[in-house]
Amino acid sequence: SALLNLRDVWVEYGDRIIIENLNLDIDAGSFVSVVGPSGAGKSTFLRLILGQEAPTHGKILLDGTPLIPECGPDRGVVFQRYSVFPHLSVLRNTIFGMECAQAPISGRLFGSARRAAEAEAIEMLTAVGLGDSLHLYPAQMSGGMQQRLAIAQALVKRPRILLLDEPFGALDPGIRADMHALITRLWRDYTLTIIMVTHDIGEAFSLGTRVLALDKRRHDPHAPHRFGATAV
Ligand code: ADP
Ligand code: ADP
Repeated sequence: SALLNLRDVWVEYGDRIIIENLNLDIDAGSFVSVVGPSGAGKSTFLRLILGQEAPTHGKILLDGTPLIPECGPDRGVVFQRYSVFPHLSVLRNTIFGMECAQAPISGRLFGSARRAAEAEAIEMLTAVGLGDSLHLYPAQMSGGMQQRLAIAQALVKRPRILLLDEPFGALDPGIRADMHALITRLWRDYTLTIIMVTHDIGEAFSLGTRVLALDKRRHDPHAPHRFGATAV
């Protein structure tokens, strides 16, 4: 059965409808590419699944229960840019991924928990190809290496769902091919469910097991709403 269920989900900003009655099940282990024109609601869709934003109507279930907001252990996210902290080393950036999940209040892990987090971080950094770069800072690394670090930071807490918001959009085509191979390998090795927003239609179809096309809803704000009990 599905890992994520979206049931009658609407997102409205004022009288603009962005997501209009979306019903969608996402199976565990799938790789969903999300495409659509600018303004279609792709980032909004990711924010809903992260729990950063609640739908105006409808519900989103993870394993049959309502989502808890982001930074929980279930979901990791990588953005096109600015996912990692410039003032932290590669290793400390990755440990932060564990602290965010395990110590969301204090923000720090100590003692044996910290040593365990460090071991996990080194393992994940090795998996993304940064095992020899633990003490570098983001400014010393290429864009591709910074995205490898962002992926390690998102995956170190072993989330089931990895959300990618145009993760390779700022990279050169040659580097992008390496990143495609990496993300495919991580998806298999860690049995992830991946939801990736992309503008690259080739990437959407070559990586995705499913392609979700969002479109712009043009809704007449003066028409009666089509949800709930409509008086007729
Ligand atoms: P996409 O990622 O597909 O480009 P977005 O999800 O960023 O689209 O945005 C969808 C639409 O919703 C856009 O027209 C955007 O301007 C609008 N929008 C996004 N967030 C807000 C908000 N918090 N308040 C009002 N409008 C918003
Ligand atoms: P299908 O299951 O129909 O093959 P998808 O898995 O791609 O298609 O699901 C996309 C669904 O989302 C389609 O039914 C499409 O009409 C719908 N959809 C696209 N854009 C929006 C939107 N902005 N709000 C709500 N639903 C949308």
